[in-house]
Amino acid sequence: MEGYARPVAGPPCTHLDAVAVSELPAEVDGCEDCLRTGGKWVHLRICLTCGHVGCCDSSPNRHATAHHHATAHPIIRSLQPGEDWSWCYVDEVGLAIDGIAGESRIPPSPLL
Ligand SMILES: [Zn+2]
Ligand SMILES: [Zn+2]
Ligand SMILES: [Zn+2]
Repeated sequence: MEGYARPVAGPPCTHLDAVAVSELPAEVDGCEDCLRTGGKWVHLRICLTCGHVGCCDSSPNRHATAHHHATAHPIIRSLQPGEDWSWCYVDEVGLAIDGIAGESRIPPSPLL
């Protein structure tokens, strides 16, 4: 039936023990991989296991997702101003992770 709400179910994320970043960097220069290769990013994401800064899936090179595939690090968090959501690639679930301090200053996207 239209508008019938699906129950909120599914297993919670089981990868929180992979989160090793407790404080966001004060400032980042952009997507690490785009800066190295001359690419351009739209939005920035940070890996909560190692602190790698990559670009989102709207960016041409999707370096945050590529980093997940290369390392199996499971969880990223948005570095966009005012955004504090995280995402587990393995469980494909959005998360709000408490206990991560700070907010990163980021440069404007080269594409926006
Ligand atoms: Zn997970
Ligand atoms: Zn990138
Ligand atoms: Zn990582």
